[in-house]
Amino acid sequence: MHFSDLGLPTIVAKAIETAGYDTPTPVQAEAIPAAIAGRDLLVSAQTGSGKTAAFLLPALTRVSERSKGSGNGPRVLVLTPTRELAQQVEKNALVYGEGMRFLRTVTLVGGASFGFQTRALSRPVDIIVATPGRLMDHMRSGRIDFSRLEMLVLDEADRMLDMGFIEDIETIVAATPAERQTLLFSATLDGIVGKMAERMTRDPQRIEI
Ligand code: AMP
Repeated sequence: MHFSDLGLPTIVAKAIETAGYDTPTPVQAEAIPAAIAGRDLLVSAQTGSGKTAAFLLPALTRVSERSKGSGNGPRVLVLTPTRELAQQVEKNALVYGEGMRFLRTVTLVGGASFGFQTRALSRPVDIIVATPGRLMDHMRSGRIDFSRLEMLVLDEADRMLDMGFIEDIETIVAATPAERQTLLFSATLDGIVGKMAERMTRDPQRIEI
């Protein structure tokens, strides 16, 4: 299998080629076509499996298409457990979205300037990558408009729960449009994370690598 078999727009396929990727990893080969087809996904995958591209490439595919909504709010929201992971995800989004001249990403994490983030949110944004706590702070100050959100990604969902973010996650998810697409990635899909995943997805495809 090759990246050109996954249904990616040319602009994204080119960036992948530039990044030097040749063959999709198993999680990418399963997740990318299903996500592009619009399915909700529950994916059990470890760090190192290529899971970041498995959700970012479908996210960028959406962003490369015309928005049906209006306003400045994000079209994709990625939640991660830590600041470092959020920064890594944004970095990868800019690599994979290299050809997309108008791609706008904002990272909302603790330990970084609130004022800087607030200013970034006053302009249109395509993808927000955030940790739940800092995103909640911005939501409380009324600065996040989820009305045109199309895709929600929960990355390392089990770690977010371990870190005590369940209430924040529930509040954030409840603030997003019900007709969104949801992709959940986790080392495990058992126990509490599996229950949460079922509540947040519709007819999800399970992918276990
Ligand atoms: P991740 O599991 O998303 O943290 O990715 C692990 C590493 O694999 C990252 O350094 C990626 O840049 C790299 N990577 C992801 N997908 C591929 C691929 N299809 N071919 C080669 N490297 C990849």
